This record gives sequence, structure tokens and C-alpha cells, in this order.
Amino acid sequence: MSDCFILLAAGKGKRFKSNTLKQFHILNGKPLIDHSIEKAIKSKIFKEIIVVTNSKIKKPKDKSITIIKGGSERFESSMKALAHIKNKKFKNVYIHDAARPNFSIKLLQKLKKELVNNNAVIPYINTDHSVKYKNGSNLINLKRENLILTQTPQCFDFKTLYKLSSNNKNFITDEATLFIESKQKIKFIKGEENNYKITTKKDLDKIKSKTFYGIGFDIHKLEKNKKLYLGGLHVPYHSGLKGHSDGDVVLHAIIDALLGAIRKKDIGTYFPDDKKKFKNVRSTKMLKSILINLSKSNFVINNLDINLICEQPKVSKNRDKIIKSLSKLLSLERNQINLKGKTVEKLGLIGREKAIACEVIASVKNHD
Ligand code: ZN
Repeated sequence: MSDCFILLAAGKGKRFKSNTLKQFHILNGKPLIDHSIEKAIKSKIFKEIIVVTNSKIKKPKDKSITIIKGGSERFESSMKALAHIKNKKFKNVYIHDAARPNFSIKLLQKLKKELVNNNAVIPYINTDHSVKYKNGSNLINLKRENLILTQTPQCFDFKTLYKLSSNNKNFITDEATLFIESKQKIKFIKGEENNYKITTKKDLDKIKSKTFYGIGFDIHKLEKNKKLYLGGLHVPYHSGLKGHSDGDVVLHAIIDALLGAIRKKDIGTYFPDDKKKFKNVRSTKMLKSILINLSKSNFVINNLDINLICEQPKVSKNRDKIIKSLSKLLSLERNQINLKGKTVEKLGLIGREKAIACEVIASVKNHD
């Protein structure tokens, strides 16, 4: 193994517009950069993986990974990494942008195969766009079939790339540029449509997110002269729901459905009803802390479907208000929440208007 994988993850990602740097954004349960690192390890092609970043990251368990500090521009980071491995006698070096987490191990293998007879192997795809080239005030129509979009990983004979990079004084956006400018041969191979670059948050939608579902159920007895809360809304009624907290069955069922979807146990784990601390606590408070948990794990809610089971008060009369309250509490659009009223043919506790029950199905996905 005389191959080295360089992962460039020092960018500021200004167009991504997030407090978390793009390369550390959680995508399908792990930071963006880990997607590339894991594939590089799994491929078994590389003796060393160099991660170039300006952020403090935990020392990885895998001994083949080295972390070095990057520059302020991409080509500076790339040069730093090449200088770092200068004396390590690598025959080949692969340079990859952490913003492309979706390449396949097969692509790495294809690149390696072609590198045997070439000094530079670059993956590309064609474009469906109609592209014009602006040259001063002149516009030139470019023939679509002649256009190629280069991707990474790009792989090179180390010595050749090192020489070209060291002599370069220009701003470049990939290493293929160096070979083109010095008129050196490049072997282009078909890249992958899925290997897109994440620039804005919207680009994340192109990558398959995982959807999870959770179910929640709750029932509370009704009690005279207590305030009734349903979905965080105070609903005028002669009775309220008995419980350790305010007895809001809708919020409790939503909390359990959400915890189910993110596979984090149940409401009782977080708010045990034998703890004084939670006595008479408003369920809106409980929901808030669960929502923080949800967003910390990078989940967002797709939709909620709610069955509110009671004879009285009539759900249809309060539906819009409850949905409005929920959409505010959950920061959701109203059309992401559905509320159905169910009666039980006068049967049992609920039928005798002694209790209210609620069941919820929540769907969440894990990137924003
Ligand atoms: Zn409850």
C-alpha cells in the first residue's frame, strides 16, 4: 500500500449558512467528513488518511488517520498536506473534498486501476445545462457535449503533483487545473451523478435522509374544576385532566411518539411521575426539552398524525386552535399536523366522559 488519501475539510462553507461548519454537519447520523473517512478506510487502498482541518476534532481511533491544520484557501490546505507527506514515499495520492460525502468505494477502485498507467486520473460527469461563456462583453455558446464537470476524489502520481503544486502561484479550485495549465495528460473517467458537492443546506435534500416513525399513546382521567389543556391550549371545559403534570394527553402522546421515532425510550424516563420536581409542571416545558434533544441529534419532524379520543369537548370545535397551538410549540407548519377527533360509542371510561385519550404517529428525518 503506497497510497495516501487527503481529505480537505478546512473550508468555511459560507454558503451553507449554519452555526455548525458544513463538514461537521450531521448527515444520516454522522458528521459529513466521517462519510468520506469511513469509505477511505473500508476501501483498504490507503496506508494513511490525512484530514486537513482548521477545527479542533477528537483524535480518531483509527491509527491510519492523521489530522493536520489547513490553510485559508483550498489549494493552501492541499499543499500543506502534500508537504506533510513529502518524505513518506507515497507513490499515489488521492485528494478529496469533504463536501462530497456520497462517492462510492467502487469509484476509488476504478481510479486506482487507471492510475497504474497515468499520472492524473479525474472523475467527471456531463452537464444537462446550457452553458454560455462570458468573455468581456462577448458571449460564447458552449457545446454541452464538450463540457465536463470534474469531481473529487482526484488521484495522482505523488511526485508529479507535488512538483506542480509547489510551483503553483494561482488560485485553483481543484488539482486537475494544475495538470491542464501545464498541459500534462489527464485520464478522465466517468464519475458518479450521486457524488454531488454539498454547498447549501438545500443540497442535503439530494442525499437520501433516513425517515423514522414513532407511536405514542396516553390517557388521563377527567377531574372537576381543573383546567383542561389539550395540545398546550387551554380549552374551556368543566373538568381538566388529572395527572402529575397538567395531564395534557396530546403533548404526552406527541412526546412519546417523538421519543419512539428517535429511539430514546419514553416520557417516563425523562419525567418520572414520582419526582416532586415535575409535579404540576406544564407539559409545554416537557415538550421543549424533548425538542432540544431532537434537534441536538439533528432530527426534524416531517409530520404528526393525532387521534384525540373523547366524547366531550368536541374536537371539531377546537381543532384549528389546537393545531395552531401545536404548530407554534413544535415550530411546524400547520399542514404538517393532522388532528382527528374520535368518539367511542359511549363505551367505557372515555364514553362516560370520565377520561380523554390520545394517540399519535410521528415521522422524523435526520438532517435539516
Ligand atoms: Zn400523560
